[in-house]
Amino acid sequence: MWHRLPRCGWNKTIYSTKFSLFYKSIVPSGRVHSEVSRALFHHDTSIVLQKKLSVAIVGSGPSGCYTAKYLLSSIEKDDTLNLKQVEIDILDKLPTPFGLVRSGVAPDHPEVKNVEHDFSHLFEKYSDRNDLSMAFRGNITVGKDVQLDELQSIYDIVVLAYGCESDRKLGIPGENLKGVFSAREFVAWYNGHPDFSYLQDSLKDTLKDPENAQVVVIGQGNVALDCARILAKGRKGLEHTDIASYALEVIQNGVKRTVVLGRRGHIQGAFTIKELRELTKLEDVDFIVHQHDLYNGKTEPSMQELNSEGSRPKLRIDKLLEDAALKWSLQTEYHNHKQVELRFLMNPVKFIPDANDGSRLGSVLCEVTKLEGEAHKQVAVGTEEMREIPAQMALVSIGYKGVALPGMKSNIFDEAKGVVKNIHGKVESNLYVSGWLKRGPSGIIGTNIHDAKDTVASILNDIKSEKMTDDRKNGSKGRSGLDNLLKNRGIFVVNWEQFKTIDKAEKDVTRLRVSEQPREKMSNISEMLKCL
Ligand code: NAP
Repeated sequence: MWHRLPRCGWNKTIYSTKFSLFYKSIVPSGRVHSEVSRALFHHDTSIVLQKKLSVAIVGSGPSGCYTAKYLLSSIEKDDTLNLKQVEIDILDKLPTPFGLVRSGVAPDHPEVKNVEHDFSHLFEKYSDRNDLSMAFRGNITVGKDVQLDELQSIYDIVVLAYGCESDRKLGIPGENLKGVFSAREFVAWYNGHPDFSYLQDSLKDTLKDPENAQVVVIGQGNVALDCARILAKGRKGLEHTDIASYALEVIQNGVKRTVVLGRRGHIQGAFTIKELRELTKLEDVDFIVHQHDLYNGKTEPSMQELNSEGSRPKLRIDKLLEDAALKWSLQTEYHNHKQVELRFLMNPVKFIPDANDGSRLGSVLCEVTKLEGEAHKQVAVGTEEMREIPAQMALVSIGYKGVALPGMKSNIFDEAKGVVKNIHGKVESNLYVSGWLKRGPSGIIGTNIHDAKDTVASILNDIKSEKMTDDRKNGSKGRSGLDNLLKNRGIFVVNWEQFKTIDKAEKDVTRLRVSEQPREKMSNISEMLKCL
């Protein structure tokens, strides 16, 4: 409930009883907020009647930015909310915003990154407004520089939108061998994310001779296909993109062979046709897929899946792969030095050490599988037939996983799923969640639109039905509260204007490899802060 005070008719005699009853009903903790008490003693109701709202969104990726966008547009459209001043602050642990748009989207998919313009426009449009404003607060780690419960007491509303900071593990022997990496880390590394530049030495050591290397990618989602494409393309196909220059030093002209493994069949693949088609059309690369893999995946339930409602994308994928498999079956020799191979119905069971160096990966042992179960629920069942695939490097690409913030109450975090428990984005009290942390790591950037609208609806519903936590209404300190707290702790906060300085520096021609390169990212936080 918002703090609603009687407009008139109160004197100090009746105040003592009425106020104590009123106060007990709205502020169970017994803490009198100074503004509320001031308003009562001075009969000044202007503060309490003028609704202010402060919102902190933790994470500046697509889910955080879309949440801000739809919160702003809903507030602008809805007069019944009667909000006089709204501050929305987007916090990020990096000095740069946009999360996975910057460090997850493949560098050779610049059209996907265009969504940054939409988000930048929001920061520009709302940065100087008093009534409705949106600000960036970068270089702040929630859980270290400021705690979640502190944010919840500083702001009226806190939305968690920091995505998935870990990944699912296979849990098979040898996962810790040198040369085995998570695809999430690999993607963040080639995209110049400062937290992952430390991988440089081990990746360089693993891919000493890319022209003769074989890499196995485990999993068949779009992240796996992105990794395979980047590894195969090499310098020629990537130098005009914003891939980190240090990554090109490692990948060089591309790795000789990349094998992408799936435990189920091609009809169950999690990739989409656009990404698959790209793999089939890479310059200087043979695309390999085997007819027997496709045939074995076409069980009766798989055919039902292919012929069920909404299966058009799957039918197109099937056709593309059948055509490619036929083409490969007629090919008598490799046309190119490099190959990308898709294998289905293969489940990795062990990473085997190199015969000459037991600390390094030498091959991936896989069990051939068969599909069992009814349509849309088929699982991969082992056949005990084993295949060993030589590999100097393996990327485990079986899905990202959310992690709890330090100090987060255990009852609100689902460890198994890696998500914050919620109902339509509402967690508890003044805490909400959006994006992958809410629904799990699925969907494209646009999926976050619907997701953010769902969370925003829950927030607006709580504002309208006066379910806001009592002692926060008009009591929050919002942006100034956060800024003061961080200043007192000696934390250097990066705002939107400062980010623009970093952005400009990254695009400076003196940093670029070739003139078409959009930017050379700074992959070091000190370097970013130095240019401010
Ligand atoms: P994903 O789409 O969920 O794919 C995960 C893959 O890992 C599936 O093939 C899955 O096979 C496999 N897998 C899971 N557990 C496994 C296990 N224990 N052993 C073997 N294989 C296992 O995940 P993602 O590729 O990380 O992508 C995350 C999201 O980002 C997706 O929604 C994706 O579309 C999106 N994304 C989109 C783009 C794009 O649009 N270009 C690019 C990158 C990412 P099963 O089906 O058998 O479980």
